[in-house]
Amino acid sequence: MAARPDADLDILRRKCWTPEVRSGDGALTGSKFSGIPYLAGGEKWPTCPNCGNPIQLFVQLNSEELPDGSGRPWGDGLLQFFYCTNGEPICEVDCQAWGPFSKSTVLRIMAPGQNASEYSESPVPNPFRPRQILGWLEKDDFPNWEELKEYAVEITEDEQEKLSESYPVQGEKLWGWPLWVQGIEYPNCPKCDTRMQLLFQVDSNQNIPYDFGDVGVGHICHCPEHRTELAFGWACY
Ligand SMILES: [Zn+2]
Ligand SMILES: [Zn+2]
Repeated sequence: MAARPDADLDILRRKCWTPEVRSGDGALTGSKFSGIPYLAGGEKWPTCPNCGNPIQLFVQLNSEELPDGSGRPWGDGLLQFFYCTNGEPICEVDCQAWGPFSKSTVLRIMAPGQNASEYSESPVPNPFRPRQILGWLEKDDFPNWEELKEYAVEITEDEQEKLSESYPVQGEKLWGWPLWVQGIEYPNCPKCDTRMQLLFQVDSNQNIPYDFGDVGVGHICHCPEHRTELAFGWACY
């Protein structure tokens, strides 16, 4: 087999955007961590089929408030991510919520309409304190060593060490490269079986006061073709 030419590291440079936040809930349709999500008029807050409780909102992102250059990743509407944090029963374990398509996780795109739900307070037991996303900070991002290998990029150990001090960018971010804690774990699209790509990274104890296992990192991925097909998974050390 002919040797593949090594791709240039620069080819793998991606942009990512990290959120700039302040405490408080903000608009119903605003971009936020926790707080009150937009729900259609008459709609009940999503409940967990395992424990029956309303599910904690982790993230809501409004497509109209995304940074310039991010290219409307899922088209129009609100991306909403709910994740059950109930400890009795431990829904995360019962529903294997570290893996994609868990029934205690709700991931969806909502089109905000004229009517909205009547919730003025969160019905979630022990709701997290909300944070509004006010803006986005653009950064460069590079993949981890394992993905570099997949792209046949060869760099020296010293270069790798230096790269891994800053990349992949940690914390919450839009786009970029996943900070994998274990191996590469992109889910496949249920519609076309294509490998999904990172849409939004959710870290432990950054903007959401929650620990995925032992300081794990989670990823909302979507299909590059079917952009509203979403999946969430996390891994920890
Ligand atoms: Zn639950
Ligand atoms: Zn697909």
